[in-house]
Amino acid sequence: MRAAVLRNGRMVLRDDVPEPVPGPGQVLVGVKACGICGSDLHFAKHGNDMVKLSAEMTGLPGGDGAMRLDLSRDVYLGHEFSAEVLEAGPDTEAPAPGTIITSVPALLTSTGVEPIVYSNTTIGGYAERMLLSAPLLLTVPNGLDPRHAAFTEPMAVGLHAVNKSAISRGETALVLGCGPVGIAIIAALRHRGVEHIVAADFSLKRRELSQTMGAHETLDPAQGSPFEVATPAVVFEAVGMPGILNDVLRRAPAGARVVVAGVCMEPDTVVPFFGTAKEISVQFVFAYDFDEFGESLRAIAEGEIDVAPLITGEVDLAGVSAAFDDLAHPDQHCKVLVTP
Ligand SMILES: [Zn+2]
Repeated sequence: MRAAVLRNGRMVLRDDVPEPVPGPGQVLVGVKACGICGSDLHFAKHGNDMVKLSAEMTGLPGGDGAMRLDLSRDVYLGHEFSAEVLEAGPDTEAPAPGTIITSVPALLTSTGVEPIVYSNTTIGGYAERMLLSAPLLLTVPNGLDPRHAAFTEPMAVGLHAVNKSAISRGETALVLGCGPVGIAIIAALRHRGVEHIVAADFSLKRRELSQTMGAHETLDPAQGSPFEVATPAVVFEAVGMPGILNDVLRRAPAGARVVVAGVCMEPDTVVPFFGTAKEISVQFVFAYDFDEFGESLRAIAEGEIDVAPLITGEVDLAGVSAAFDDLAHPDQHCKVLVTP
């Protein structure tokens, strides 16, 4: 079957990927849509660094953080998917064939949990078909468009960041960076009923999109510091570049909570005194839990979060490589969906 895989830093189309066969507890599904994530782009460029950093890390719940990956071999990507049930494995209870589902990106196997994010062996969403785990499947309700259901994963990231912030409706939120992560946070803040959401981004297109998704006020940081306009109780950092965190600590009001949702993989310097003097809390966030994933699907399916404006492109498997190149100019895009 066909799949777009990462080979030597480029996405290439293969038509000779062995057909996946579901084992006990697993389900073969046909991918309907899979969003291209910024982390996929980053991995394509800086996969070596990510493997190296993850190997240095200890303290993760599942043991060490090492990615067991060989970058000299093809890597399967694609973790923001919706799919159609095709066939259940032996002795496996699963929704009927034809049912549209989504799942957290993980595959339960006889030897443990395989993340469906970057893998030499576990096929991701940039493929015609893939394996998922029956106990993790969520049926897509309300006849929701499978392309919209593919936003369950990225929007859950926003819900999680907002939950971690413990923001109340009357507090002002400032979201720095209106790429897909910042946009998911804005949508989640609006969904929570937060009454004053300020969004900052250099790109006019992104500021417009953040307004569509629920920001009450938008600012261009080139025109002045967002902190001169807003006095946020909570600052969501969704840029993920060196220097941002220190700038936030320097400018944020006393007592602010800073939620770091951007993913910066380079060493970065902060002046702790800025945080000390103003008693600023910093919370790093990552991914989501099962409940947040389910809540994200529900909110999209009920029409409480409209993801349609976020789709700025759609490609088939042959178009994945060009889409990765296109997304290097992120101004032009929010989310490109792969529909195999
Ligand atoms: Zn993602």
